[in-house]
Amino acid sequence: MYTYPGAIHMHTVFSDGSGTVDELVHAAREAGLRWIIITDHDTLAGQPFEGWRKDVLVLIEHEITPSRNHFLALNVDQVVNNQLPPQQFVDEVYARGGFGIIAHPDEQVKSDFKDIYRWDDWQIDGPSARDGRPVGIELWNAMSDWAEHLTQRNKFALVLAPQLGFGGPTPATLDWWDRLNMSGRRTFGVGGVDAHAFKRSVPWGELTVLPYKWIFRTLTNYIQLAEPLAANADSARHQVYAAFAAGQLYFLNRRAGECAALIFHAERAGLQYAIGATVALNGQPLTFTADTGIDADVQLIHNGRVRARGLRQLRQSIDRPGVYRLEAHRRGRPWLYTNPIYVVE
Ligand SMILES: [Zn+2]
Ligand SMILES: [Zn+2]
Repeated sequence: MYTYPGAIHMHTVFSDGSGTVDELVHAAREAGLRWIIITDHDTLAGQPFEGWRKDVLVLIEHEITPSRNHFLALNVDQVVNNQLPPQQFVDEVYARGGFGIIAHPDEQVKSDFKDIYRWDDWQIDGPSARDGRPVGIELWNAMSDWAEHLTQRNKFALVLAPQLGFGGPTPATLDWWDRLNMSGRRTFGVGGVDAHAFKRSVPWGELTVLPYKWIFRTLTNYIQLAEPLAANADSARHQVYAAFAAGQLYFLNRRAGECAALIFHAERAGLQYAIGATVALNGQPLTFTADTGIDADVQLIHNGRVRARGLRQLRQSIDRPGVYRLEAHRRGRPWLYTNPIYVVE
């Protein structure tokens, strides 16, 4: 298995980010990322920059950005009208052969850096006809999480030490995600950076809020592939999206510890089933194995509830169907989330 770290959800000078595509690529390389998905607001102006930039794969997509209800449209080569109602713009993305990710669904707080851009209607969880088409939820959004913790009193502290503003996915978001997967509406989860690197003038000059290079070391998605990423950019793009669609990825906040080679699989009779797999029980128990490589409170979650936990590692035999995923916390704070392994009768 080949594992590639990357980041999704970021803005350049083509919308309201402060960096050029080249500057983002440079920051991504410095942060050790191998792929980035740029999602400027309602524009694909960055498209000429798509492709391999040396060792970083750059994919250009767009965030459909009405005043609320933001949606990351992937694999669509035309900008979708953000004035359509949410169900219609989501359907439009799929009608054009794309798929997408519901962005920062659970925002609650307005601050100096953002309004409340929540996903209003949680009955809308993908295209009208799901039919097994891939849909994602941005479980954890770095910028949104940080800005939700910002107050007039703490704002300078949070600009200078942004990690203080990181909470984790909201319980409501995780609960929605688990319920969708338990009901058969399979939905993959990602961590988005939502990088803008806003510039703000202060009495002593100019501050960059959550610089690209800084935020690229926060929420990192590790896609797991059977083959290395192809040298041909179009093929590599399809590999990345196939991994998303199949839920073959995990993400973590690297500011709280690195985990480039997570072990998490189900196993039986010498066969291993990776993140994203579906396994039939057929009356035979399965064993889950996890190892984060560094100290963490590791939890095996079954249908939204903690089924087993361990320090750094766990091993747990199971004989019940359901949605199994791994979650890990460090120093009491959310850190790592995998997509599920689905166990059926
Ligand atoms: Zn947004
Ligand atoms: Zn955004």
